[in-house]
Amino acid sequence: MSDAETLLQEVSSYLNAKDVEHIRQALEFSGSAHAGQLRQSGDPYISHPIAVARILTPLHLDAPAIMAALLHDVVEDTHISNKEVAKKFGNPVAVLVDGLSKLDKIEFETKEDAQAENFRKMLLAMARDVRVILIKLADRLHNMRTLESMAREKIERIARETLEIYAPIANRLGLHDIYQELQDLSFMHLYPTRYSVLSKAVKVARGNRREVVGKIQEAIHQRLQEHHVTAQVHGREKHLFSIYEKMQAKSLAFSQVQDIYGFRVLVENIPACYLALGALHGLYKPIPGKFKDYIAIPKANAYQALHTTLFGPYGTPIEVQIRTHEMHKIAEAGIASHWLYKTTQTPFNDLHKKTHQWLQSLLESLSQSGDSVEFLEHLKVDLFPDEVYVFTPKGKILALPRGATAVDFAYSVHTDIGNRCVAAKVNFELVPLRAELKNGDRVEIITATHANPNPAWLSYVVTSKARGQIRHFLKTMHFDESAQLGERLLNQALSSLGVNSQDIDKTHWDKLIKDTTAKSRVEILADIGLGRRLNMVVARQLARVGEGGAHELPSGGIITIQGTEGLAVQFAKCCRPIPGDPIIGIIKKGQGLVVHTHDCPTLRKGRGSTDEWLDVVWDKHISKPFDVSIKLIVANQRGVLAKVAAAIADAESNIENVHFTNEGDYTSLHFTLQVGNRQHLARVMRDLRGIPEVVRITRVKTAPT
Ligand code: MN
Repeated sequence: MSDAETLLQEVSSYLNAKDVEHIRQALEFSGSAHAGQLRQSGDPYISHPIAVARILTPLHLDAPAIMAALLHDVVEDTHISNKEVAKKFGNPVAVLVDGLSKLDKIEFETKEDAQAENFRKMLLAMARDVRVILIKLADRLHNMRTLESMAREKIERIARETLEIYAPIANRLGLHDIYQELQDLSFMHLYPTRYSVLSKAVKVARGNRREVVGKIQEAIHQRLQEHHVTAQVHGREKHLFSIYEKMQAKSLAFSQVQDIYGFRVLVENIPACYLALGALHGLYKPIPGKFKDYIAIPKANAYQALHTTLFGPYGTPIEVQIRTHEMHKIAEAGIASHWLYKTTQTPFNDLHKKTHQWLQSLLESLSQSGDSVEFLEHLKVDLFPDEVYVFTPKGKILALPRGATAVDFAYSVHTDIGNRCVAAKVNFELVPLRAELKNGDRVEIITATHANPNPAWLSYVVTSKARGQIRHFLKTMHFDESAQLGERLLNQALSSLGVNSQDIDKTHWDKLIKDTTAKSRVEILADIGLGRRLNMVVARQLARVGEGGAHELPSGGIITIQGTEGLAVQFAKCCRPIPGDPIIGIIKKGQGLVVHTHDCPTLRKGRGSTDEWLDVVWDKHISKPFDVSIKLIVANQRGVLAKVAAAIADAESNIENVHFTNEGDYTSLHFTLQVGNRQHLARVMRDLRGIPEVVRITRVKTAPT
């Protein structure tokens, strides 16, 4: 019988005819998509997806999962698109296939332990659905079984990755057999000589021990019967890698590791576990300090059992695990026991509850429910609700708390990056600095040399490092240092105005101080250094008072606006100027420079007041996004807001804020958007005009109220 036929027979044993027919169609589809492709081993490619599916059938995975296993390489390796998969086999299957393709794209490279842990968590977090992880593990297992035909270098990389990433995930999910096989195969490929020596030694030892094992097993069985405990007793062997690990960790010889006998006692219920324990402690003396009660305190992967080590009859230690049949099923199949045992005579609710509890230890926040659909929903919950995992542009993974923003990311990369960040790109698109990061995001921080931390960041950063560093920066830009820096900046500005700083004397300063809220020359200088005042503004003020208060402004030295000046420059909320707009600056007493657009209604009304006006221009190179307000009138139609939002996103802009008011058949939408400049805004507005429901669109510059 062919592998394909065997697979169909296997799924027929637990799935209905309709499901089996769907699987047969997926099998055919995958076969023709991969037609002509060969594996490295020379086998036809389709042998791989079939083998992957067959690793999952003993776990009784559902039809969508088996179909996804059959189709898992179709989108990656053939001309078929995920859309076609969705059309042909339905969305649930396509979502699983898509999840698998995403996992395939990330490769683990570093050898640091902390990175390995992050990588494992990220894989789990990205998978979203536990079935994706199960298929991925089966995929890896089959690749490990057929690794020989690869180049040596590749074999080592894949084996190491399996040992460090995939085997621990299998363990965490309680998939006992897959876990052990992944470890043993990695061991075999990484250390072929050690593996073959050890496996020969184990074979020899097994023969020698057979008689002793039989005698102990019999003694245990009899003692349990005397105590009226119904039990199954099995001899137990360690898998090769765990023997090797133990020898390594404790520097033991093979004989010392192997000189331990392992037994497993399966009983009916929890009280029987403790009864059996008492009986065995009466049979052989327990070794003090070795007893562990994983029933009262289960392991992180929900493993439950009593472990004890006894002094055996021949002076050798005997390790005994005592557990109920149900605990045993979960110990063997882990999360998969949900599918595996839901149709057996075991009351479904019991097992359901168990796997549920098991997941709870993983997910923390699971609600108890007896409903299977809801159980599947819970499988899709984030496995790590408190953390997100993101990439640096160099491919390093950073773990950040949930809710972390681009600023948190910048500070976690380096304090200097945090202090100088002006904008961020997530997955190659500009986003606001306050944007919340998601799992798998690739984050790039744009910095500017003269940029300083903004106090407003404190309202949205979530990491203590970012918070601490921002506070630190704002506090310790020392007064004296600031004043020194301020003086340098001021002298530069003066010379660009053609004024010699020697010519500015105390009378100039006294006049300036009278005109401002500052108390002293040093305070003004410190304000410049701290970015609360602009050097150019102060220079012009000093130069002007030097000319006897004439309102004739010296030529040259037009102030260039970069958008990164911090507190020294504010952009007027009424007109929200963006690069490309003609702009003008106003010095507000004690406020610094406020930038308006030329045609700002507020400005027009305030003309003639005593505020000082300044010529300002935009810098040629501005990378920071700016806020702008627009108003849309749209016809009330279902989904129009979603269309508008999608168009804005497609035009690479971000929505900072939106509110709307209903006016009969129409709604007016007020957006605050982020754009790079005027051309960008024009592009956004043009795209919005293309939406049929959009009746009118205007940029908003509010008049004073
Ligand atoms: Mn594959």
